[in-house]
Amino acid sequence: MNTSTVHQESELRSLHGKRVAIVGYGSQGRAHALNLRDSGHDVVVGLRPEGPSFARAVADGFAPLAPAEAARSADLVAMLVPDSAQPALYRDHVAPALRKGSAVLFAHGFNVHYGQIRASQDVDVVLVAPKGPGDFVRRQYSDGHGVPCLVAVAQDATGEALGRAMAYAHGLGGTRAGVLQTTFAEETETDLFGEQAVLLGGVTELVIAGFDTLVDAGYQPEVAYFECLHELKLIVDLLYEGGLARMHHFVSETAKYGDLSRGPRIVDANVRASMRTLLEEIRSGAFATEWVLENQAGRPRYERLLARDLAHPIEKVGASLRARMAWLARPTEREAAT
Ligand code: NDP
Ligand code: MG
Ligand code: MG
Repeated sequence: MNTSTVHQESELRSLHGKRVAIVGYGSQGRAHALNLRDSGHDVVVGLRPEGPSFARAVADGFAPLAPAEAARSADLVAMLVPDSAQPALYRDHVAPALRKGSAVLFAHGFNVHYGQIRASQDVDVVLVAPKGPGDFVRRQYSDGHGVPCLVAVAQDATGEALGRAMAYAHGLGGTRAGVLQTTFAEETETDLFGEQAVLLGGVTELVIAGFDTLVDAGYQPEVAYFECLHELKLIVDLLYEGGLARMHHFVSETAKYGDLSRGPRIVDANVRASMRTLLEEIRSGAFATEWVLENQAGRPRYERLLARDLAHPIEKVGASLRARMAWLARPTEREAAT
């Protein structure tokens, strides 16, 4: 694996004099458009005029064009609409607008890796995947920092595909934090695994199961909320800043002994076996097929599961406790948009 922390000046100049179209102005789109513009790139935003994010882009000083127009006017087109919306948008609006030697860029490899988008052979297909939500990509850049990025090349029609991806990652601020070269397969499979097993699926089920266990045993829901959800932030921040060692340094000896001796009983051999099963479903394409079909069916299961999650008692007790901590209610840049 090749860590590209040393960048060729020539690579970073690969987008010099080129126009970048950012199609979509949501979580990633807004951050990419603003960061690249502030880095000196010529950025055009591509949006449907009737959508809610159009006004946001205008307020930020862009003059959005329809996606096809933006793509036609650009040398590199970043596909930053939701993954489920990308195949139709690409087929109907972006693909017909591309020229020989154009580049198409993704922030997640799903559609290319699972064959939902197949670009013609004469364009570059690259990935620049920031390892963080869009708000964070923007905030870190504005603070003079950056979010690490994965870059990959699926198709190199011009011989400059990697250089273009590196220049884009640099413009995003990614090179300040480190850019790692990978493949579409590795980025896609590890991203899906991370969000399913650990970051979202794993963490939220762990929190809810802990909360339910305490409440079912007769403890106050408010206390259960503090123990199982609220305090998670402190621990995650310590892990983020300095790994296990920093976390161990700040918790009590009793907490540490409980962690070390009990943790493996929670995340036990069964959980590890389930993780391997999830990974297999991702690698075989079974998860991707399920999700594509779910979208085609109008997302009935997705909506049902989401409603069930939001109806959990932890949401109610959490809302009332957070209302007393006014500083937590500060909207993110993105929420402020809508
Ligand atoms: P969002 O859901 O935030 O994208 C919303 C934007 O897409 C809006 O501007 C919306 O416009 C536009 N849009 C939605 N549907 C369509 C459509 N059919 N035609 C035209 N425009 C449309 O997307 P994300 O930023 O979350 O994701 C973008 C990409 O980035 C994905 O590939 C994702 O996997 C990847 N990614 C996302 C991360 C994240 O933290 N969110 C992290 C890393 C990668 P309108 O206002 O008109 O509805
Ligand atoms: Mg993801
Ligand atoms: Mg532990």
